[in-house]
Amino acid sequence: MNILFKKSLWWFATLTILLSTAGQAADYAWKKVERNGVEYVDLSQVKGFYNFPTLSLSGSRIEMKNKDITLLFAAGSQEVLMNNVKFIFSNSIIAINGSYHVSVTDLLKIIDPILRPASIASATPFDTVIIDPGHGGIDPGCSNSLGTEANYNLKVARMLKDHLTKLKFKVVMTRNSDKFLTLQQRVNIANKYSNAIFVSIHFNAIGQRGRTRARGIETFTLSPVGVAHYGRSLKASDFVLKAGNRQDSANIALATAIHWGTRMHLKKAGMEVPDRGVRRARFSVLTGVKHPAILLEGGFMSHPTEARLIHSNAYQKTLARSICDSIVFYRTATIQRPKR
Ligand SMILES: [Zn+2]
Repeated sequence: MNILFKKSLWWFATLTILLSTAGQAADYAWKKVERNGVEYVDLSQVKGFYNFPTLSLSGSRIEMKNKDITLLFAAGSQEVLMNNVKFIFSNSIIAINGSYHVSVTDLLKIIDPILRPASIASATPFDTVIIDPGHGGIDPGCSNSLGTEANYNLKVARMLKDHLTKLKFKVVMTRNSDKFLTLQQRVNIANKYSNAIFVSIHFNAIGQRGRTRARGIETFTLSPVGVAHYGRSLKASDFVLKAGNRQDSANIALATAIHWGTRMHLKKAGMEVPDRGVRRARFSVLTGVKHPAILLEGGFMSHPTEARLIHSNAYQKTLARSICDSIVFYRTATIQRPKR
């Protein structure tokens, strides 16, 4: 792990120690308010629970900070910045009786695991990394004049495998050639192993109309029960507990580590791309895999600048290196369990 990366992420582990004496957020007697079937908690209660000294308001901007971390909310928005990492919350921050509230789901499923990664029961020790290069064979994924997504995914996956192997991780590739696999086959391969995490690698694309607009990196992790797939409305099946939901907290911690780490590495390498945030989705690989799992969309092949970046060896190498460092970081942060 390089120095810059360590420095940038140090608060993640520091907080683990600072907050290890606090009780479990899920067990705490929050005073909840309901709006449109969603339960909310006043941000001042959140401030108190996590010992933030300040909660300040300026226009629609709501800031909660201590010496290690800054949480930046915007009234009416689902976008939240936690130490400059963007998260797309499941519900907007809303004013109820004159004070700002966050939904209980976002509090327990995003804020808490991020602030206290070592209290995540589902983040069990692991020695195996399952790398899933998306698409392949008859399914090339996205494509442009420079190449196919299936091929880029595989290239990054192979580099990542080399890094992890050197660090003595056991590595499983769902595919290591240009071969077609169904989503269920990928899930079945992953679920044959224990003590593992799952990382699916993809690149994005959008139709002609959004070509020059849509760009950047986004990291998906499974929507908790009662939360829709990003950009879709809620449906009955969103309330069914999936295999992946047993690791909700570990999922968000892994997504954060990889999303943040990737952005830091790209920035340092002079290849910074926009931040599209950590988002919730119901992709089959995320719902079916029984390990902490994320799906990284490493940029837009449809965007003229990003297409060239994604095609470059330097960009692919940086992605692979950063995912590896992030995995190591996630492991370090989550195994420092508080004594109870
Ligand atoms: Zn894809």
